[in-house]
Amino acid sequence: MNKKDLEIIENSIRVIPDFPKPGIMFKDITTLLNNAEAYKTLIEHLVDRYKSYNLDYIAGIDARGFIFGAALASHLGIGFVPIRKKGKLPYTTVSQKYSLEYGYDEVEVHIDAFKKQDNSTANVLLIDDLLATGGTASAASELIKQLKANCVEACFIIELSFLEGAKKLDVPVYSIIKE
Ligand code: AMP
Repeated sequence: MNKKDLEIIENSIRVIPDFPKPGIMFKDITTLLNNAEAYKTLIEHLVDRYKSYNLDYIAGIDARGFIFGAALASHLGIGFVPIRKKGKLPYTTVSQKYSLEYGYDEVEVHIDAFKKQDNSTANVLLIDDLLATGGTASAASELIKQLKANCVEACFIIELSFLEGAKKLDVPVYSIIKE
């Protein structure tokens, strides 16, 4: 991405100190979304990057991954799959638990989400707004694997590199902003 476009995106993200708890610098992407130039610049960049990847699906992580993933999927002319927090999906699911600071959380996906008409393996791009410890994204990529699809890459708008989340993922990671 060129410097000008990167600046447009970086400058559109608001940082809220101590949210939702002391010590967390929360990256608020709502100010990217309501900035027409920044949102368009971001989606155009992702379309440009992924148009040659031969993707079949974009899998977005609940909930901010939906906003970027669905727009990208539509531009690429492919399907979008939501990976949701436990208990939200109505049909048969597979699920994966992951550890939090205290306790655990769980994500799930519909069992037939990555089906292809010819039964060949689907190429999937995983997307979320932010990579922190990597727990959420690695659970999501496990789900893609469980359904015998191929997670080609995991894409994030922001990566908090100091938390080393990329090390938890056994797929290539692409992040637009690294901190
Ligand atoms: P993790 O599983 O630790 O990689 O956390 C990633 C998830 O938590 C993503 O869905 C993010 O949206 C959210 N998240 C974690 N840290 C932050 C932060 N500093 N600002 C905004 N969202 C965050």
